[in-house]
Amino acid sequence: MTFDYDLFVIGGGSGGVRAGRVAAATGAKVALAEEFRMGGTCVIRGCVPKKLMVFASTYSEMFEDARAYGWDVTDGAFDWPRFRGKLDAELERLEGIYRKLLNGSDVTIYDARATIKDAHTVTLSTGEDITAKHILVATGGRPVLPHIEGAEYGITSNEVFNLEQLPKSILIVGGGYIASEFAGIMNGLGCKVTQFYRGEQILRGFDNEARGLVAEGMRAKGVDLHLGTNVLKMEKRDEGIWVQATNGSEAIYDQVMFATGRAPNTEGMGLAEVGVELGRRGEIIVDQYSQTKVPSIFAIGDVTDRVQLTPVAIREGMAFVETVFKGNPTPVDHDLIPSAVFTQPELGTIGLTEEEAAENGPIEVYSTSFKPMNHGFAGRDDRVLMKLIVCAETRKVLGCHIVADHAGEMIQLAGIAVKMGATKEDFDRTVAVHPTMAEELVTMKEPVRTA
Ligand code: NDP
Repeated sequence: MTFDYDLFVIGGGSGGVRAGRVAAATGAKVALAEEFRMGGTCVIRGCVPKKLMVFASTYSEMFEDARAYGWDVTDGAFDWPRFRGKLDAELERLEGIYRKLLNGSDVTIYDARATIKDAHTVTLSTGEDITAKHILVATGGRPVLPHIEGAEYGITSNEVFNLEQLPKSILIVGGGYIASEFAGIMNGLGCKVTQFYRGEQILRGFDNEARGLVAEGMRAKGVDLHLGTNVLKMEKRDEGIWVQATNGSEAIYDQVMFATGRAPNTEGMGLAEVGVELGRRGEIIVDQYSQTKVPSIFAIGDVTDRVQLTPVAIREGMAFVETVFKGNPTPVDHDLIPSAVFTQPELGTIGLTEEEAAENGPIEVYSTSFKPMNHGFAGRDDRVLMKLIVCAETRKVLGCHIVADHAGEMIQLAGIAVKMGATKEDFDRTVAVHPTMAEELVTMKEPVRTA
């Protein structure tokens, strides 16, 4: 049987675009369909615009710090429309680069929604049917609103980048990556930020000591964080959005942003109808080679709800090409993935938390929290955390957790050592880089706890 293409990719995000390009480089005939903008969540309404907003938001503290260091500067006002205009232009530039890369790789682009008709056929929203030997679903996910009365008056991370004006006050609901990152961003940009999290501490799943320090730092910077609190009910009023909280309090905010999780984009795709197995949340179930129950259909990235991170989707895409187009079956290694949460303060992490490691014990915990030089001089109280979790038997560093400015940059490098299986003694043998914050990672002598 002959097909129109060797590979048809559905979704032009980081994972889909990479898989399409690398497959085409093997000589395969490849097409890719995207219904919205090329670049996907990461480039268009996720990591990239978020990080640029983080950068923008940190300047508010810099005026004060600059004065403490002897500069004669006065606080300036933040011009949201000016920033947004630049942001839009930057995203357009990046989208253009994605298109250019695909064109340059001879991947045919369809600016249309694609759904699955059968194991080898997709139907485009233009009505056209296209056949392919392999279909790769890389449709990502989308933010979901909780089932709360009036939740429709809230926005999500999809809308936050396109606000006409910056709200004076905002309630952010959720305690995960997105909620906690945006609490810091909006606070830094000058909004009055309230954050509700239903659990007992934000960033569930991260190391407890690190979560505690992040929450403390966010509060010190001005975020009004309410734990054990959720929205009960919302109404649209002339003055803004009225919110009744589960603790009985009431308040009016200019905006309410829900960051209460994301759902895989599988609705109406025709997946279950052709035999692709879906999980409880609608995620595509795949094996270690990203293959679904239908042998010709594969899926990568957030739509599979394995680890929702851009670099993981890219790796899954590359492993798919290696397996299917290079005859070299390659499972994706999901173990020891370093990551960063761009909260203020920032959190970088790899490996086991103290709580997880203690369950498999015995462990030694090396941890130090201190006021870094730059903040001390500027008269700030912000503290940083450098923490290593060490297996008492093998001496291997099982986890590394950093709360500090640029923790994301630091954990990328510490992550190499941890991934290589470095021991505490390997860290100790490495000469400190002085004066830095990260030197503490190689100078901690005695464990603060054992478990
Ligand atoms: P998360 O799953 O991280 O967080 C969702 C939050 O919403 C949790 O705090 C959860 O509470 C809460 N929640 C869920 N349902 C409700 C509800 N009905 N009412 C109130 N609160 C609720 O999702 P995010 O949307 O923040 O992020 C999605 C994924 O995107 C992340 O898992 C991450 O992998 C990725 N991401 C990565 C970033 C990075 O690498 N820096 C940045 C942004 C996103 P509870 O804890 O109680 O379940």
